[in-house]
Amino acid sequence: MSRCLWCSEAIELPMSFSQLFFEKPKKPYICSNCFSRLDLVSDITEKCVSCCKPSKKERCQDCIDWSKHYPNDSFKHYSLYYYNSFAKDYMEKYKIMGDCELSLLFSHALKNHFEPSLKDTAVIPIPSSSKSMEKRGFNQVELLLESAGILFIKVLENIGDEEKQAKKNKQDRLTPPQPFIVDGEMKQKLKRKKIILVDDLYTTGRTMFHAYDAIKTCQPKDIQTFSLFR
Ligand SMILES: [Zn+2]
Ligand SMILES: [Zn+2]
Repeated sequence: MSRCLWCSEAIELPMSFSQLFFEKPKKPYICSNCFSRLDLVSDITEKCVSCCKPSKKERCQDCIDWSKHYPNDSFKHYSLYYYNSFAKDYMEKYKIMGDCELSLLFSHALKNHFEPSLKDTAVIPIPSSSKSMEKRGFNQVELLLESAGILFIKVLENIGDEEKQAKKNKQDRLTPPQPFIVDGEMKQKLKRKKIILVDDLYTTGRTMFHAYDAIKTCQPKDIQTFSLFR
C-alpha cells in the first residue's frame, strides 16, 4: 500500500486487468482527495492561447504586452495547474522549506505530459540563483524533472543575485538585468534543435523571457516553455 506524500492518507490502487497482467503498476504519490484540490489547466476552456492564463479574450493582456517586445516570435507556454492555495502550500513546503521528497508528488503527471513531446527535443530547466540553491540544497526544477524520469540538459547558469534584487526599489525590480548565461560548449549543440524551457512557476513571465532570450542566442529551431504552475 502506498501513502499520499502530501497528507499521508493511504492510497487505494484500482487495478485493471491489463495492469495486473501486462503493465507494471505505477505507484501513485498523491491521493484523489489532494488531487481534487488542484485546479487543472486542461479543465479551463476560456484561457489565453499563448500562456494558459484564464482569459475571456484569445490572448491575455500580459501576452499582448510581451508581444510588443517580441513582434516576430510566437509564444507557446503550457502549464499543468493553476497557482491556487494548494499549489502555494506545496511550493512553500517543497521550495522554501526544502522537502525534497515532494518532488515526486507530480512525477506521473509530468512524465505523462512530457513523454509524447520528447523526441528530438531538448528539455532545459531554468536555474535559480546559486545563493538560493545553496540554502535549499537542491535545484527545485531539476529535481522535479529527475523524479519524473525526464532527461534534461543543463545549459543555463543563473549569475543574478536575487537578494540584491529584492532590496531594489519597485521600478528597478520591474526591470531586472538578464541573470542567465549560456554554457559556451552547448551553444553549437542546440543549433536548430527543438527546446522546451522548464520552470516551476510562471507569474509575470519575466524570468521565462530572460531564459528565452539567452537560449535564442543558440539559434534553436523552436522554443516552447513550460511551468508546473501558472
Ligand atoms: Zn493526500
Ligand atoms: Zn497570456
